[in-house]
Amino acid sequence: MLNIVLFGPPGAGKGTQSEKLITKYGLTHLSTGDLFRKHLGEGTDLGKLAKKYMDEGHLVPDEVVIQMVEDKISNSENSSGFIFDGFPRTTAQAEALDKMLANHGMAISGMIALDVPFQILKERIIERGKTSNRVDDQNEEKINTRIKVYLDETLPVAKYYEKQGKFKEINGVGEINDIFNEISETIDRY
Ligand code: AMP
Repeated sequence: MLNIVLFGPPGAGKGTQSEKLITKYGLTHLSTGDLFRKHLGEGTDLGKLAKKYMDEGHLVPDEVVIQMVEDKISNSENSSGFIFDGFPRTTAQAEALDKMLANHGMAISGMIALDVPFQILKERIIERGKTSNRVDDQNEEKINTRIKVYLDETLPVAKYYEKQGKFKEINGVGEINDIFNEISETIDRY
């Protein structure tokens, strides 16, 4: 059973690489950003609640995110493992994830972090915003907020996995396939 946390700041390429990884390894993609956007599109209460935070580039409260992930894991019983994309984003979420997985007899295999300089991130997000329809991709102030939130609240999550000997950083700048091959080599060693 493979359970991988794909980590990195907004615009690092987590979504792009996740798509390729689920095809290669037959894993379930669990992107909390995608799940929130689905709720938003369907106009659910959860979507309405999340929208207030997402539009400003802030994090949705831990207990809301954790419950949503718990539901998704419980509803994916036949899965051969998960790619967690955009989750966990706080140390409290990482601790909750370890407990949830343990309850299902699973554990995180490793975290793979995509390293991309901030100037390149901004350029990528602005480019994505031209077609993504995402409010949070279309405004420089909101992009700056998301990067600041990443530095303040999310970066400590890397330390959490480093302490467990489960952290690997990969250069996230270059050809998509080269980055994918490097990620695959890391996964094949788990
Ligand atoms: P993403 O698509 O991963 O960039 O997520 C878009 C937005 O959804 C974020 O800026 C947050 O507002 C919210 N979000 C996604 N994942 C999480 C999470 N794990 N914790 C808190 N908020 C999240």
